[in-house]
Amino acid sequence: MTHDVIVIGGSYAGMAAALQLLRARRKVLVIDAGKRRNRFAEESHGFLGQDGVNPGEIARKARAQLSAYPTLAWAEGTAEQAEGEKNAFVVTTADGARHGARRLLFATGVSDALPEIGGLRERWGRSVFHCPYCHGYELDQGRIGCIATGPMSLHQAQLLPEWGEVTLFLNGSFAPDAAQRADLAARGVAIEETPVARLEGAADVRLADGRLLRFAGLFTASRNAPSSPIAARLGCALEETPFGIQIRTDAMKETTVSGAFACGDAARVPHSVSLAVGDGAWAGAQLHRSLVF
Ligand SMILES: Cc1cc2nc3c(=O)[nH]c(=O)nc-3n(C[C@H](O)[C@H](O)[C@H](O)COP(=O)(O)OP(=O)(O)OC[C@H]3O[C@@H](n4cnc5c(N)ncnc54)[C@H](O)[C@@H]3O)c2cc1C
Repeated sequence: MTHDVIVIGGSYAGMAAALQLLRARRKVLVIDAGKRRNRFAEESHGFLGQDGVNPGEIARKARAQLSAYPTLAWAEGTAEQAEGEKNAFVVTTADGARHGARRLLFATGVSDALPEIGGLRERWGRSVFHCPYCHGYELDQGRIGCIATGPMSLHQAQLLPEWGEVTLFLNGSFAPDAAQRADLAARGVAIEETPVARLEGAADVRLADGRLLRFAGLFTASRNAPSSPIAARLGCALEETPFGIQIRTDAMKETTVSGAFACGDAARVPHSVSLAVGDGAWAGAQLHRSLVF
């Protein structure tokens, strides 16, 4: 069977795109490996109407609503390869099944490369975050540690005082100049030069000299890359962003491969559930138009 569109990645962006296409009575196959980027967090914040709701619950409700449309097909698993061209794409999944489609949509999200600090990975999404709009309010104006990963961390450290008293851990990642130090001081940000040894407790920082500093929460800037190589292997161009690498698209969300589109975290910055849903809805409408005109 040839689908109108195969959506690879059935999270917020992919489902938002699929919804538009299903409502146009188009045949859509969603292939999803079920690893949403925010799966580490108990609560999702900042998405209108769903503030504080569990991320998995938002996705479950969306999928239940999509399932009411008879032209939806859903495959759980990983899409390993996409080949072919506009009107004749073929996607192969990990179980060896091959699926045909006139158009493709990559909504595969991004991975987060985290600083190599003992105890950080286990606390990601629980007490270590990257986005203060998502998780800053709940820290209740408590003390915040910002673990630098490079010069971009300056901006994160300067923004964070909106949510509490901030200490920036340089952790050997860069050396601010005099002007940058003055900017940080103007925002009341304390600078800690001693390297971080590991994280302990809820959000405590053990320094290399043995000191233990306690925080309500920690922030760090992860580096992003598409979570799947499938779009790049098809030939879609990638591009650098201030946060890492993403799939390049035009304003209609079409990649550099004709007939293959991309949306959500994989193809835009900055990142949030709201923005992924908006981007997905736009991509879905553009995919539909490309099937018509
Ligand atoms: C710790 C953390 C907490 C966050 N908290 C918030 C928050 O509170 N509020 C907020 O607005 N944003 C939050 N975000 C950001 C939010 O998670 C992302 O912006 C959002 O998930 C992007 O949606 P997406 O659909 O583009 O990608 P994702 O949600 O990452 O989904 C991508 C989907 O594609 C699937 N996939 C990937 N490759 C393949 C493949 N080859 N085959 C099949 N399936 C594939 C994945 O398994 C996954 O299901 C948080 C992020 C992190 C890291």
